[in-house]
Amino acid sequence: MTKCADVLVLGAGPAALCIVAELVQQGLEVQALASHAPNRPWPNTYGIWAEEVESLGMASLLGHRWSNTVSFFGNGVDEDGLAPVQHHFDYGLFDQAALQRALLLKCGDINWLVETAERINFLGANTEVCCRSGNTYRARVVIDASGHRSSFVRRPNHGPVAQQAAYGVVGRFSSPPVESGQFVLMDFRPDHLTKAELEEPPSFLYAMDFGEGVFFVEETSLACAPPLSWNKLKERLYARLQKRGIEIQEVLHEENCLFPMNLPLPDRNQSLLAFGGSASMVHPASGYMVGALLRRAPTLAKHLAKAIAIEPALNSEDLAKRGWQVLWTPELVQRHRLYQFGLSRLMSFDETRLRSFFGTFFRLPREDWSGFLANTLPLTHLLIVMLRLFAMSPWKVRIGMIFGASKPIS
Ligand SMILES: Cc1cc2nc3c(=O)[nH]c(=O)nc-3n(C[C@H](O)[C@H](O)[C@H](O)COP(=O)(O)OP(=O)(O)OC[C@H]3O[C@@H](n4cnc5c(N)ncnc54)[C@H](O)[C@@H]3O)c2cc1C
Repeated sequence: MTKCADVLVLGAGPAALCIVAELVQQGLEVQALASHAPNRPWPNTYGIWAEEVESLGMASLLGHRWSNTVSFFGNGVDEDGLAPVQHHFDYGLFDQAALQRALLLKCGDINWLVETAERINFLGANTEVCCRSGNTYRARVVIDASGHRSSFVRRPNHGPVAQQAAYGVVGRFSSPPVESGQFVLMDFRPDHLTKAELEEPPSFLYAMDFGEGVFFVEETSLACAPPLSWNKLKERLYARLQKRGIEIQEVLHEENCLFPMNLPLPDRNQSLLAFGGSASMVHPASGYMVGALLRRAPTLAKHLAKAIAIEPALNSEDLAKRGWQVLWTPELVQRHRLYQFGLSRLMSFDETRLRSFFGTFFRLPREDWSGFLANTLPLTHLLIVMLRLFAMSPWKVRIGMIFGASKPIS
């Protein structure tokens, strides 16, 4: 019979490391289990607004930081012109290795098993995880942090899930694709697209200067069901660069990105708890999650530790329910629903309406748009911001916000 840990965490991505670190800090006996060693480099690069990492006291973990942060919503023809919108707000990219090291250090010397979970059995008082190796492990409660593809977490089926898709290249170019020292959050200029392509789901360029002649350019579709294919995004990226007379001279790294934006919230009555992608924590309007993981892990860990210490009779189901109540409070659920509603509207917008929407969004006061993107605005404030955005928007965007806009309005 294997020993029964307080908490068993599945995964070794950012979500797993964040929650394990906090559970260990609470003095709990934690068993972590992932298909690979926890120090294997993560495949993704994580971006975040600098203020979010500063508020967490983790700004030193940024590998890159930009003050010159802009977006483009014009097309050179309409009144918006080609001038960039200046965000006046620093953006950063985590130094993945440093973030991973810092979290692992906080996890202490717990035994991290390299195992793949295949089945989870709820035994009442505790939960059993059965692995491909044939080994089984038990804990009073299991937290699934195995990413958005988890087959263990129960959630309702609301139909097709919208995915964020992107194709990107880190490389050297015949001429700089963005200004020196610049970060471009969204370049929506569509002047490289044919009339037929303008009718297709829109995409934008996310780009940055890494210094020493290296840039990252990524053609991104915010959310679409079915998702835009990587080939389509690659074609658009090349067409965009070609329009500006830019060639890729050396590809140092290619990124193919695909993850769900509006995965339904998990059933909060199940005996399995989750954290990260598996718990639908990706921000439905932006696709960001790492800031939320770092902010929400300490609260969840504290509540679980308290429940485990004070109420030894609580079984897996009770503990998981306590966890869900903290992770997805009624306030956070309402905010999530608002974001999901907003996303469903944006997904119905054609490219002119989308550009117009974002042009208006970034005219909101900075605290409002950044709080919206970080999901740090209280519900009432978020509602006010959404109403303000509605009032500021041109009529064609307002109509789209109310009714959706499956047909472009000319
Ligand atoms: C290309 C890309 C770029 C992104 N960029 C950003 C960004 O800039 N900023 C941001 O905030 N968010 C970003 N996201 C969104 C989100 O933050 C990431 O998807 C994030 O990696 C999700 O973290 P996670 O730990 O929940 O899952 P994952 O990172 O997917 O980790 C899952 C872990 O579980 C393990 N695992 C899976 N199944 C099992 C099993 N059966 N048994 C044991 N272990 C298992 C895996 O090996 C892995 O260790 C990006 C996503 C992608 C795909």
